Amino acid sequence: MGPSKRRTDQPLLGRCPDCGQELLRETLLISYRTANGWPKMFAQCPACDEPVHPE
Ligand SMILES: [Zn+2]
Repeated sequence: MGPSKRRTDQPLLGRCPDCGQELLRETLLISYRTANGWPKMFAQCPACDEPVHPE
């Protein structure tokens, strides 16, 4: 391993609206666009163990 400095270049999707857990890109389940053009995402929250909308 290199220096203890952690790489933080992994983009976050957002946070769990229920528990505040940071949701990494790898937790993304699906993304889609709503009828009004806004992208929506479902991510698997590792703390809640269920799909949430990152915020
Ligand atoms: Zn959660």
